[in-house]
Amino acid sequence: MTVRVRFAPSPTGYPHVGNIRTALFNWLFARHHGGVFIVRIEDTDQNRKVEGALESILASLKWLGLDWDEGPEVDGQYGPYFQSQRLELYQKYAQALLDSGHAYKCYCSSERLEQMRREMAERKESVRAYDRHCRDLTDQQRTQYESKGMNSVVRFKIPLVGQTTFHDLIRGDITFDNGELDDLVLLKSDGYPTYHLANIVDDHLMEITHVMRADEWLSSTPRHVLLYEAFGWQPPLFAHLPMILGPDKSKLSKRHGATAVTEFQQQGYLPEAMLNFMALLGWSLDDKTELFSRDDLVQYFSIERVNSTAAVFDHQKLHWMNGVYIRQMSTEDLLGQIKPVLEQD
Ligand code: GLU
Ligand code: ZN
Repeated sequence: MTVRVRFAPSPTGYPHVGNIRTALFNWLFARHHGGVFIVRIEDTDQNRKVEGALESILASLKWLGLDWDEGPEVDGQYGPYFQSQRLELYQKYAQALLDSGHAYKCYCSSERLEQMRREMAERKESVRAYDRHCRDLTDQQRTQYESKGMNSVVRFKIPLVGQTTFHDLIRGDITFDNGELDDLVLLKSDGYPTYHLANIVDDHLMEITHVMRADEWLSSTPRHVLLYEAFGWQPPLFAHLPMILGPDKSKLSKRHGATAVTEFQQQGYLPEAMLNFMALLGWSLDDKTELFSRDDLVQYFSIERVNSTAAVFDHQKLHWMNGVYIRQMSTEDLLGQIKPVLEQD
């Protein structure tokens, strides 16, 4: 089996070290196994698109030398690699789930949904995103709504009972009660897919073998596993990477200083140092070795050695490591790095 992994950023902002750490672990895993590293742009949320974000994501990868085998600028056999260019595919697969009875059209207006949530809150129930109002509409009601030209979204029918279990390569077996999951939207009324539909259709069609992503997506995974089952597809293997915290143990954010990879580049950090430092955010070889060249990392990286507990971003350690790499440079190389910075001012 050829390992095929992907980094699937949404161009909704400047890439945070957490995003690029995800890219790095996928890249290391692919290179270690002689596999394929894919970059797929998840740009279906048109409202959240940020100008310049895509360029900044690709520039961060290039700066760190994380080359991709398929994706923007290089293409490949499984393209297009921009989800906004694959809308017809998602529509086709949403229709397939409607046809097989695994999905249904929901005609609820946003006003109705808001009112429903307000009433749930008033009754002091835990507020759910949806009450399955349209799950059991009669054919007659459906025909009537269609003939009125009412807008609809496609929702996934989550099984009402039972549990969904999957194995995470970092965290072990994880079980969710299906009763806790909502009938999520797959296709919006404007014909755009949600993250869930587009993500699993693409992982399947692009023959992704391992999904390695931030652990904020862990709660989406049971939904994805159920979607794979509904399609009759074999799910990939999953590995959810630990969160990155600031020194005060809260989620790493601007409050802790620079977080965008491009900021570190501007501040004079060397890509080799940054790469080495980021590889240790959640992975270690033996809990003590700190300095790794790119080749060492490719040679030693394994999912087994990724921690399940959060990593702490230590700016001082990065600073120290950068010093180590700077001192190792030849004077010529160092001058080559310094000159463009001096010439900028
Ligand atoms: N587009 C999602 C993100 O921005 C991808 C999550 C995943 O890898 O499934 O992180
Ligand atoms: Zn509805």
